Amino acid sequence: MSQANQGRLPIMAANWKMYKTQEEAADFFLKLRPVLEAPTRCFVVVAPPFLSIPTAVEATKGLSTVAIAGQNLHWEKEGAYTGEVSARMLAAAGASYVIIGHSERRQYFGETDETVNKKIRAALDAGLSPIVCVGETLDQREAGETEAVLKQQFERGLWGLGAEELLQCVIAYEPVWAIGTGRTASPEMAQDAHAFLRHQAALIFGEEAAESLRILYGGSVKPDNVAGLMAQPDIDGGLVGGASLKPDSFTALVNY
Ligand code: PEP
Repeated sequence: MSQANQGRLPIMAANWKMYKTQEEAADFFLKLRPVLEAPTRCFVVVAPPFLSIPTAVEATKGLSTVAIAGQNLHWEKEGAYTGEVSARMLAAAGASYVIIGHSERRQYFGETDETVNKKIRAALDAGLSPIVCVGETLDQREAGETEAVLKQQFERGLWGLGAEELLQCVIAYEPVWAIGTGRTASPEMAQDAHAFLRHQAALIFGEEAAESLRILYGGSVKPDNVAGLMAQPDIDGGLVGGASLKPDSFTALVNY
């Protein structure tokens, strides 16, 4: 693995959403494992559905180039919350990262900056690294509200954290209008948003922490647009949905 962007090791993260059975997950890792055994340009994170986490952990055993993530969690440690999964359960299953505040969860499951904040706290307390998603809708971008939205999501989501805790986190800038639409932010547009987020991080947590913070871009990342995005100084990797589902296209992203 090589270091890039001022020593920030890039991360290529796969968000499988509600795709793949355990058998399909095992098949994917059979094909990905040789890729991860060779030197890669980035650290790889894969977030399968909860049921496939043990399969993914088993399939990547012994590899230092990859970690497994949950796609969500509940902020309580345990309790009468039917259908939910806690940070401790994810950690016990072998996950070390967790996606928090994905726009699909904000849009369909009532996630707010306040629940995002509670989930980040729970993840950190259980030793998990949160991948915190922020991003504006198309209406917000067209109304010139992008920076105000990002500032609010960042400040409220990460409220109460210390600088060291920030560095346990990864931020994912995911413009909602680019997720699953085939419409990607241009590298310059993404860079502007990433630089803005890094500046927000510096204001709250200090320059040093902000310089070490990894900020991923998500929104229709594909093998043919990844290089342009990754060439930007403040883009430290990708959070990838559609193109992470096939071993071939995900391999092309990992070795961009
Ligand atoms: C995502 O799920 O976070 C995502 C960015 O999806 P896609 O790559 O399909 O746009």
